[in-house]
Amino acid sequence: MITETSTMFKKLFTPFKIGNCEIPNRIAVPAMVTNMPTEDGYATEQFIKYYEEKAKGGYGLIITEDYLINPNGKGYKHVAALYEDAQIEGHAKMVEAVHSHGSKIFCQIYHCGRQSNHFVNGGVQTMAPSPSADPWNRDMARELTVDEIHTFVRQFGEAAGRAKKCGFDGIEIHAGHGYLIAAFLSFHQNHRTDEYGGPLINRVRFLHEIYDEMRKNVGDDFPIMIRFSAVEGTANGRDLGEARVLAKMFEEWGVDAINCSNGLYSSYNDGIIASTWKKPAFGASNAKALKEIVNIPVMAVNRINDPLVAEELLQDGYCDFVGMARASLADPHLPNKAKEGRLCDIRQCIGCLQACAGHTYQQIPTCCLVNPEVGKEYKYTFEPTEPKKVLIIGGGPGGMNAAIAAARRGHDVTLWEKEDRLGGQFIAAGCTPGKGDYITYVYSLNRTVNQLGVKVELNKEATADDVRAFGADKVIIATGGVGRVPEEIPGIAGDARVIMAEDVLRGRVNPEGYIYILGGGSVGIETACYLADAERGHISIVIRRDVVADKEDQGKVNFMRAFCEQRHVKFLFKHTINELAEDGLVLTHNGETETHKVDWVVLSCGYVPVNGLVEELKDLGDKVVVIGDAVKCRDAEDAGNEGFDAGYFA
Ligand code: SF4
Repeated sequence: MITETSTMFKKLFTPFKIGNCEIPNRIAVPAMVTNMPTEDGYATEQFIKYYEEKAKGGYGLIITEDYLINPNGKGYKHVAALYEDAQIEGHAKMVEAVHSHGSKIFCQIYHCGRQSNHFVNGGVQTMAPSPSADPWNRDMARELTVDEIHTFVRQFGEAAGRAKKCGFDGIEIHAGHGYLIAAFLSFHQNHRTDEYGGPLINRVRFLHEIYDEMRKNVGDDFPIMIRFSAVEGTANGRDLGEARVLAKMFEEWGVDAINCSNGLYSSYNDGIIASTWKKPAFGASNAKALKEIVNIPVMAVNRINDPLVAEELLQDGYCDFVGMARASLADPHLPNKAKEGRLCDIRQCIGCLQACAGHTYQQIPTCCLVNPEVGKEYKYTFEPTEPKKVLIIGGGPGGMNAAIAAARRGHDVTLWEKEDRLGGQFIAAGCTPGKGDYITYVYSLNRTVNQLGVKVELNKEATADDVRAFGADKVIIATGGVGRVPEEIPGIAGDARVIMAEDVLRGRVNPEGYIYILGGGSVGIETACYLADAERGHISIVIRRDVVADKEDQGKVNFMRAFCEQRHVKFLFKHTINELAEDGLVLTHNGETETHKVDWVVLSCGYVPVNGLVEELKDLGDKVVVIGDAVKCRDAEDAGNEGFDAGYFA
């Protein structure tokens, strides 16, 4: 019988070898920083369970985050390490856990080079092929001496030997993204005049020596692959011509596979951790250009989130493996769901970068906006519990996650939502141009809520009396927040020209003419994108400071700014709003006050909690839990996490 799955996936679930290691399918998890090991690089339970979950979900090859070769080579505080034998035992447990589900696991090994700072790498000055400052961390790196280079080469080899002792199935050398080896490889950072700088054959010497040293330590029959940035996307950076030469060299050395990534962190993630504004599989054509000229397996990466896209890349000869990094955070069970033909059950990565990249920079364990279980696999074991009657008020992501967790624990769950649909503020988020895939999260939550038999009542405005009469064992208040009206600005409150950003994004009002958006946070610039795309007139964003959406990933913000600027949106930085007068919006800039012709004022001035019920239900004591924006308006991720936790522990 031909099943739907076997028709759709001709290659994705076929095994393929890297060296002598047979990988059960073509879906790989490329390296991602977890921030879960201890500060000295030891594996924790959280770390082990995180990787095990991906193996349970059917990923054929898992490539770990970057393991350290010495204590000073880390870019973040909590990086896994294999610079001493004592570290082997814990990491071996992780490998064993992954193997118990049939997946293969490679150990990525790196040195961060200048992409670090003295706060995280033991107080030492950062190191690079040549003196230079990393644009993010700003510390000035010093030039490595030749003796130090030789020491590092030896340490890379030793770390590889320990990885083999842990039971890993192979090694990936991280030679991309601007880290130390990448810095040696590229004119962008390597300005040496000795045998490690200048022509390509010298710039590649450090990597070649590392590879040889590792090979000596692990033997000929142990796979070693190299990850590098084919296209660096920065001034004087590598392009495909040189990348193809490097790929051929790697093959000649005996490297077993190539992981073709792109970009440098100093080019603000453009080719590495890509947001919703980048196209799916945008780096795959570079992988194809390498695959055409080598006979070893090539992996393609870069925003490959959908198994159908992955299959297409394999069938069309772009690659032999597809790296689905963030997709594995959003849904660690993606491969199994795809194999079973359950494509609509897959939770898609929406490219928000909030809880993955965002947590990396904050140096806290990784998570995922659309999957609150990431990093908490050790905590959410779903042991049987006494069933309870749970009432959830509010059907945004916080309330829906609460409903899902509570229903999965076997509780009898009812969800009240005052609007005619579930999704809350996330519905508006998905209306911005470039953010369409945000709506897949709302779809996924709706689908799961229905599948779990949660009783949903729409158009239900909860009163305290209703809640008491319902008689729940647990009440979770997830009523969210509403847009703040800056009443302190004369003329704003009550003026018919003043509207909320969310109403614009959801198409409830259609402003035209001279439009001023107040507030330069992410909602402000997203609303500008929406209005500019729809050619609604003369759009300006009034921003008190000189930055826009500074809490967001700057790669994403750069896209939005460029989108707006191409459509002639004006960014009025360092402008103070004095008043909305009858004849216009009065603004002050550099001490000069001017009245601007205005048809509409769109407010994106933050949110305030909606939590009136909390006070009214005080008599219910600890039966009531308040979560998300109803406590304090924050990121969507916080609402989802708190909701899931409240539902799980209801
Ligand atoms: Fe994707 Fe956002 Fe989850 Fe990161 S946090 S994996 S970008 S959905």
